[in-house]
Amino acid sequence: MVALKEVHKSFGEIEVLKGVNLSISKGEVVVIIGSSGSGKSTLLRCINRLETFNAGSIQYNQQNILHSEAARREIGMVFQQFHLFPHKTVLDNIMLAPIQVLKKSKEEAQVEAKALLEKVGLAEKANVFPSKLSGGQKQRVAIARALAMKPQVMLFDEPTSALDPELVGEVLRVMKRLAEEGMTMLIVTHEMGFAREVADRVVFVDKGVIVEEGPPEEFFKYPKTKRLKLFLRRMV
Ligand code: ATP
Ligand code: MG
Repeated sequence: MVALKEVHKSFGEIEVLKGVNLSISKGEVVVIIGSSGSGKSTLLRCINRLETFNAGSIQYNQQNILHSEAARREIGMVFQQFHLFPHKTVLDNIMLAPIQVLKKSKEEAQVEAKALLEKVGLAEKANVFPSKLSGGQKQRVAIARALAMKPQVMLFDEPTSALDPELVGEVLRVMKRLAEEGMTMLIVTHEMGFAREVADRVVFVDKGVIVEEGPPEEFFKYPKTKRLKLFLRRMV
């Protein structure tokens, strides 16, 4: 569904992605782990066209993402910082893109937005402004907002890293539900328990390349490379 081939990305002199090859199949949940500065966010941002890349290719359903209107609409993203619109209510945050981009009627967008709020457990917050929500609630609204565009793939960049520990679980639960429903997901996270439980495949990025990948049982139990062993040892 998404395929990266030899993707290179530099910022000035510094090469951040040094030939990344990665394929994600429909319905697959892939978790990316790696140290700070290894290029994880840059990788997601290239897939979502928030960043250009210098060489290689990224395809979405066999089409070059750079020329695919579907890629733009059907790849949703959730960030560490929630990026909600502060002057709009929760419901309006969710309705905005479906109305503006998908040209939905206000009525239809509202019905769908309410259903999505229900899904993330925040039906009662529809008319509240984001400043009145906890971090975990904000992130669940951000997920609902991304889902309102009916994405086929969801990218998550450390969705729980900005949250107080006691709020992490409520966001991971929503993500786990999505995974169980068959959503194709690419998730950067430090939540190893989540990776173990939900990922179909875990990918270790180090210094701009994929060093190792595998199904979680194997990946965590029998790391092959020295770099991954070291990384996992530091995580626990
Ligand atoms: P973290 O775990 O801290 O989020 P990361 O793996 O997501 O790290 P990236 O954000 O992709 O890492 O950054 C990789 C490298 O690229 C870093 O050295 C960073 O300083 C650099 N970088 C990222 N964005 C830019 C930018 N817009 N301009 C210049 N350098 C950048
Ligand atoms: Mg990052």
